[in-house]
Amino acid sequence: MTDERLLEMAIEARKSAYVPYSGYAVGAALETKDGHVFTGCNVENAAYGNTLCAERTALVKAVSEGYREFTKIAIAASGSAPYPCGACRQSLYEFAPDLEVFVTWDGHVDRVPLAELLPYGFGPSSLGK
Ligand code: ZN
Repeated sequence: MTDERLLEMAIEARKSAYVPYSGYAVGAALETKDGHVFTGCNVENAAYGNTLCAERTALVKAVSEGYREFTKIAIAASGSAPYPCGACRQSLYEFAPDLEVFVTWDGHVDRVPLAELLPYGFGPSSLGK
């Protein structure tokens, strides 16, 4: 899948975001090693700690369907660059330390390897797995 198409899917997924508190809608599209794509949006909650980010929504959907190898993720928002939060960086690192991360907002696009977003990451290999 082209990077452009993956970005479009993230922008589309953003439309489903449930963000009555922050108003910061995010969409994500996560591509598996064999070309499947799982999308997600952020889902907020009145109990703020229960809020789930778009990236982890997509990741959980994929893993729950049996996919564990990923190559790229696109993340879309508006107003500011939606680089993944710390929790999402860690969750993605578990399955794909070499993931390519694309972020888009207001017509801008940036690409950064997950390894740069989470240097010296703690993952399965840290536990000898
Ligand atoms: Zn996050």
